[in-house]
Parts: sequence; C-alpha cells; structure tokens
Amino acid sequence: MIKNATFLISNTDHTKCPPPDKAEFAFIGRSNVGKSSLINMLANNKNLAKTSGRPGKTQLINHFGVDNKWYMVDLPGYGFAKVSKSLKADWEGMIKDYLVNRDNLVALFVLIDSRLEPQKIDLEFITWCGESNIPIVLLFTKADKQSRPKTQSTVAKFLKASKAIFEEAPLYFVTSAESGDGKAEVVNFIEEQVEE
Ligand code: GDP
Repeated sequence: MIKNATFLISNTDHTKCPPPDKAEFAFIGRSNVGKSSLINMLANNKNLAKTSGRPGKTQLINHFGVDNKWYMVDLPGYGFAKVSKSLKADWEGMIKDYLVNRDNLVALFVLIDSRLEPQKIDLEFITWCGESNIPIVLLFTKADKQSRPKTQSTVAKFLKASKAIFEEAPLYFVTSAESGDGKAEVVNFIEEQVEE
C-alpha cells in the first residue's frame, strides 16, 4: 500500500533525473490508455498525475518519490495523431535515452487498453523494448468496461504476439482505475521488488 507519493521533478533529459539511488518503476502507454488514472489509483491520490484532457501535451519525464523507497515515473504517452514528426522524434529520443540509460529502472509498465485488438504502435514499442532489454510488465487497463472473457481474449492475443518478441512471455496484470481491480497486485509486485 502506497502511503505517500510526492511530485519531485519534470524534465526532458534523463541525466537531470533524480540520482538513481532508489528502485524505479515507470509507466507508459498510448495517449488516453488510462495512465494518469492508474497512477492516481495506485498512489491513492486523485490529483497526482494529471488526467489528460489534452493528449500529447505533457512531453516530460515526471518523477515522483514514493514512501521514501522508490521512484514512480510518469512518461509521456505515445501514439497521438495530431503531433508533428519532429515532436515525435523528440519524444522517441527522450524516452528511449531514458529507458536505455536509467540504471535503477526495475520495470517499465506498458499500459494496454484491454478493449482493443493489439495495436500496431503498442506492438512496435514492445518489440523495441524486447530488442533493447527493457524489463517490461504489461498492464491491461479499463477492464471494468467489458466482460472478463473479452479482457482475457485481449490478453491472450498480446501474449501470443509477445512470443515472437520475448523468450518468456512478459508478466501482466489486469487493472481498472474504476473498480480498483489489479491495484493490490501491482503495488505488491512493486513492493516485493523494492524489498529485495
Ligand atoms: P491517459 O491519457 O493515459 O493519462 O488517460 P487518462 O487517465 O486521462 O484516462 C483517459 C480516459 O479514460 C478518461 O476519460 C478516464 O476517465 C478514462 N479511464 C481511465 N481509466 C479507466 C478505467 O479503468 N475504467 C474506465 N471506465 N475509464 C477509465
């Protein structure tokens, strides 16, 4: 259970992030996937990450300190349509530099909308993570919006696609910021890693 999460710093450059002295867990996903809602749910704070009315506007690496034990990082969403090519290139450079160089990164949570067929942009991003040895965990979001079998069907399709990318299927959790599903499991997973 997260007791306290505090905003620390936003920036565009991984070298300016807080010193890598604590375990770090980052969150990423397509714009509108429910990332802010999920972060707020995990942190028990409705206002921690700003829920986006304006997709793609927050192009920053946002660090939060959690319980003085670990860092939570809100990364900018990808896959928004109305963004110029140069902004997309900036995003890629910033995020990929951060992910490849951040030594204390324990896991990158890649958020996937559990209602949708596997999206090309998600598969491309996950493929890059596989090639770059980024330790990912899949989080399927908005599970309250449909039946459990429908969610399981999305999960199965992703795991099947992941077989081509990873030797071992990535760990995953099914979540809902609406119902609180998956909250305890994700927080437990993080806290277990932090304690090791
Ligand atoms: P972000 O752009 O990835 O940060 O997404 P947001 O957290 O801003 O969520 C995008 C939209 O999806 C908002 O209208 C949220 O209220 C809604 N949403 C997010 N998570 C859930 C969820 O678990 N269940 C439902 N029903 N809606 C959600």
